[in-house]
Amino acid sequence: RANISHSDPELADLFSKESARLNEGLELIASENVASPAVLSALSSVLSNKYAEGYPGRRYYGGCEFNDKVEQIAIDRVKKIYGAEHANVQPHSGAQANQAVFLAFLKPGETFLGMNLSHGGHLTHGSPVNISGMYYKAESYGVNAQGFIDYEEVAQKARECKPKIIIAGASAYSRTIDFAKFREIADEVGAYLMVDMAHIAGLVAGGQHLSPVPFADFVTTTTHKTLRGPRGGVILCKEKYAKAIDKAVFPGLQGGPLMHVIGAKAVSFGEALQPSFRNYAEQIVINARVLAETLLANSVSLVSGGTDNHLILIDLKDSPLSGKDAEERLAQIELTVNKNSVPNDPRKPMVTSGIRIGTPAVTTRGLVAADMKVLGEAIAMALKNDDSLLQKAKEKVVSLCKKYPLYDGALHNSGY
Ligand code: PLP
Repeated sequence: RANISHSDPELADLFSKESARLNEGLELIASENVASPAVLSALSSVLSNKYAEGYPGRRYYGGCEFNDKVEQIAIDRVKKIYGAEHANVQPHSGAQANQAVFLAFLKPGETFLGMNLSHGGHLTHGSPVNISGMYYKAESYGVNAQGFIDYEEVAQKARECKPKIIIAGASAYSRTIDFAKFREIADEVGAYLMVDMAHIAGLVAGGQHLSPVPFADFVTTTTHKTLRGPRGGVILCKEKYAKAIDKAVFPGLQGGPLMHVIGAKAVSFGEALQPSFRNYAEQIVINARVLAETLLANSVSLVSGGTDNHLILIDLKDSPLSGKDAEERLAQIELTVNKNSVPNDPRKPMVTSGIRIGTPAVTTRGLVAADMKVLGEAIAMALKNDDSLLQKAKEKVVSLCKKYPLYDGALHNSGY
């Protein structure tokens, strides 16, 4: 296998530094994970060379016999994980999976209803700076004063704006989403129900969150968050929508599929079908709960007062530290997080009053409940706005990093 350190030392050095960064700190960004060596290996495979426009058995290029089989395995495995009728594994990303559903079922100017970005929704659910908010009429719902989705408000908004599609799903929501309620509301107003399960896809696969598949017309997801695959997107839908969805992805939105990514998706779906993945998903949720309890016990406020899933949203509205300050302080103790707006945030989007934390990556790394207590104490110390506590907090984090070397040190030591 070619070694980049010989052919391109400048880049090899940066790859190596990134590997060291990951190993020497803890990754708490809720949308990130640590893909397996097998997934990384598939990503660097010869499948990257192939043009395979079309779908298995119906390609616009020759030489696709093995790529056809790979894509079919990816499709079959993801259908099995979720009990879905149809799957399209070609979207290059979560954003493109969402766009494909819009392209198939919404005409420019038509109305859809999604969760407000500042209340935890995603950019692609109607933000004015995203194509979803530019080309379509985006209406939004949010959370109540306690930080929970207000289903009565969703129903009220739906009755008022009569959306063609209702989107359930979020990027910064720490509570279970009731897809049955969303289905009821969609049925009442005659809307399609689209669920963007990107954040919770691994929890659904591992039986730790209600599945949206029986309730939704279309389910979109990314494959790289809790599901722990390569970066990419997938669409699941009822058979009756299969043709429209496939046409929207290709030729509607994309050209050639990224076959190496589809190969890596297939590998990760195989991993998600193993019994051990259920234990992993369960541990993600346990770790988030213990971390939330530790933060609360150390006087750190949380939006909604806790978590049901992999994610925690720290509420800094009453703190002298902004989300931006807190992100920088946590970086000083080797924790990677992202600042995040909280509902009714008084600070600007580039400053914010929140920190979003997730447990998928540290759970992959091996951390368990007892470690979450150490981690929670370190975070609480760093958020006390007292610089004399930072060194002690950092020592706690460093001890956890040493206890759980990333990839058992294998990739790091090989200068990946
Ligand atoms: N949908 C949700 C709910 C997300 O959280 C994200 C990413 O954070 C996306 C879609 C977009 O995924 P991508 O970054 O792959 O386009």
